[in-house]
Amino acid sequence: MPLYDYLCGGCGFKDEFITPMEYEQQCPHCGVYMERLMPSTFGINMGVGAYGYYDETLQTYVNTNRQKRELCRERGVTPLGDTPKPDGEYGA
Ligand SMILES: [Zn+2]
Repeated sequence: MPLYDYLCGGCGFKDEFITPMEYEQQCPHCGVYMERLMPSTFGINMGVGAYGYYDETLQTYVNTNRQKRELCRERGVTPLGDTPKPDGEYGA
C-alpha cells in the first residue's frame, strides 16, 4: 500500500501513513479527518485544482483548507473539527 503524507486541518499535525487509496485518516491528536497530501511527483507541473479531495460535509471537491473554509462560510456550514467563529475571524 502506498505511503502518504497527511495534514490535519484541525491542529496542523502532519505525518506519514500507509493507507489504502480511499482511506480517510483521522488525526491521532484531535480526531479530525486529515487531508492527504499528494506525492510530490504528482504535484509537478500540475496546476492548482488538478487534485483536491472530496469533502462530504460540503459535498464538493476542495483543494485547500482555505477554500474549504470559504465554501463553508458561503454555505453556512461548520467545518468538521473547527470551532465556529465570527466572520471577521475566519482565515486568520
Ligand atoms: Zn489534529
